[in-house]
Amino acid sequence: MENRAPTQTAMNAFINKQNFPPDSPWPALLHCLCSQQFNENLSHRQRAEIADLLAEALLAESFSERRLQEFFTQKEEILNSHYVAELQAALEETAGLFTQLKNISSRRVGDIVKLEKTTLNTVKSGKNPSLMVAELRKAFREVIKIMEKDRERLAELSNTDQLTGMANRRFFDGYLEQTITTAASRQEELLLLMIDIDDFKKFNDQYGHLVGDEVLKIAAKIIMDSVAESNRLRGKNSTCSRYGGEEFGIIMPESTEEECLELAESLRKRIAHYPIIIRNAQGDILQKDIHITVSAGFCALHPLWLQEENPASRFIGATDKALYTAKKRGRNMVCQCKPYLDHNKQITLAIL
Ligand code: GH3
Ligand code: MG
Ligand code: MG
Repeated sequence: MENRAPTQTAMNAFINKQNFPPDSPWPALLHCLCSQQFNENLSHRQRAEIADLLAEALLAESFSERRLQEFFTQKEEILNSHYVAELQAALEETAGLFTQLKNISSRRVGDIVKLEKTTLNTVKSGKNPSLMVAELRKAFREVIKIMEKDRERLAELSNTDQLTGMANRRFFDGYLEQTITTAASRQEELLLLMIDIDDFKKFNDQYGHLVGDEVLKIAAKIIMDSVAESNRLRGKNSTCSRYGGEEFGIIMPESTEEECLELAESLRKRIAHYPIIIRNAQGDILQKDIHITVSAGFCALHPLWLQEENPASRFIGATDKALYTAKKRGRNMVCQCKPYLDHNKQITLAIL
């Protein structure tokens, strides 16, 4: 079992024993942070960072006003990091969609002008009225057909990540809800696999954000190809999405834990062995044989989560715990989360 953190009661008791200045806001702040450490709505990474911040403050035993400000800023950064990243991604995606919409609309102006000309020419032609009506109908139908295609294209674009061409987070969220409902009604297995590029911040720092973008595209292509190949071999319908940043989610309906592990291991190895080459604008090789690695976590949907308010968030949380453990154990590996019922009939997450 991974969770060896002290209980919330023990932590609160420890905070109460500290020597705070009179009327200081420190105890309230530390108690509040202590409860956040056990907040299941935060990611495992956020909770671990909060635990570290709390431990750091308690060990330093420096409860000054200046330290309070720093501490408060650090706390806010940890709690908001998730939303800031999501907001940034949503903004970029919306801006991209807006550009596409603008391009499509400007192309349609030409079609409408053409329709206007056709209409005028038909009316001026003085042909038999029923012939005129048929011609006008045809011209309008063509424009409606084009607009219908635009609508389909926009719907597709709104579910696609523009950098990698993979399905995006919007698609992931909707499809996960849908597959959970189907798996529950048919009593079928549903697996979730999350993959995250290791030390990608360092990679960007070393090679630059643009090279980072190209590497994200390579990782996404390997994931898409591997999922398609696995689907073909097994006759399954797994889908991969860019979950956010350098993280990908694969939803695997009607699959077994063994199939999920096999796909995860194959992806991990393929990505680790891929030799990345950096070229300049002229195509000359600047650096070659650079490698990245990924960590992965997976989990099977537990039937008891279906009775809870938000099964999808439970499912993601458990898978994230497996991924987080893979990072803690050294990265470039796959971990599985195995939910089981403990002696109090509570679902507990074991990591294999
Ligand atoms: P870990 O192994 O723990 O996952 O470390 P990490 O550095 O990969 O994780 P962290 O969450 O600290 O940083 C994620 C990095 O991924 C930072 C961010 O700049 C980078 N990243 C996220 N999205 C993109 C993107 O679209 N393009 C590029 N180039 N980098 C991205
Ligand atoms: Mg990462
Ligand atoms: Mg990440």
